[in-house]
Amino acid sequence: MNKIIEVQDLRKTFHLDEIKVEALKGIGLEVTEGEFVAVMGTSGSGKSTFMNIAGCLDREFKGKYWLDGIDVTQLSEHQLADIRNKKIGFVFQSYNLLARTTAYENVELPLLYGNIKLSTKQHRETVMEKLADVGLADRYDRYPNQLSGGQQQRVAIARALVSNPAIILADEPTGNLDTRTSYEIMELLQQLNEQGKTILIVTHEQDIAAFTSRKVVFRDGRIVQQQRVDQPKNASRMLQEQLLQEAS
Ligand code: ADP
Ligand code: MG
Repeated sequence: MNKIIEVQDLRKTFHLDEIKVEALKGIGLEVTEGEFVAVMGTSGSGKSTFMNIAGCLDREFKGKYWLDGIDVTQLSEHQLADIRNKKIGFVFQSYNLLARTTAYENVELPLLYGNIKLSTKQHRETVMEKLADVGLADRYDRYPNQLSGGQQQRVAIARALVSNPAIILADEPTGNLDTRTSYEIMELLQQLNEQGKTILIVTHEQDIAAFTSRKVVFRDGRIVQQQRVDQPKNASRMLQEQLLQEAS
């Protein structure tokens, strides 16, 4: 199996006037194709710093990083941006959709920015297919403020999928959502993973991490624990239970 992410001795220090903050103190991690990994840890443990580097949003670090076999430390700014567009789909806690832009237009953005050449027909079909994958084909013309939080996060997931990336990186994707909607989003991520997508999420909630197949725990910039989840919880089932509970 391909290694999608491989980092060795990753270090990152923030310099604030007199103070040095060592956010990452030597992280070693591999994520293999088809995995669904949860990065856990308390606030300030370095999770977002790691995700920013993994997502090629931050290149100011020490150590080694191969993304889908490519040594990203050797790339120019321009090459890095290109790799990021092709290889990575981002999902954020706050959805990060453009406000005056429809669901369709939000999803198509990576196709417009990236070096992705499609005919007009293929372009439209790709966007609509991704909206259908997240269950929102019928809402393609809605603006973010006409959609619920869960629906907005689905649009963000469709946008992350549209360039067919090697990995989805999601930093606290359920952080703003209630229990039921969190389960819906995890159900969707589980389905995508079953279809072969490699996914890395950040969460500080055990019950969300329980849906993934491996937990990696950060503490003070180090990985202090790694654990395979032999029987990941089934998000569809948890969702059904939650709905029954809410109805009673
Ligand atoms: P987490 O996502 O696990 O809450 P972060 O990666 O955001 O943790 O932060 C790790 C450490 O790095 C914290 O001590 C935080 O204050 C510090 N940090 C993060 N981003 C910056 C920044 N841009 N400038 C200075 N310090 C930062
Ligand atoms: Mg964070």
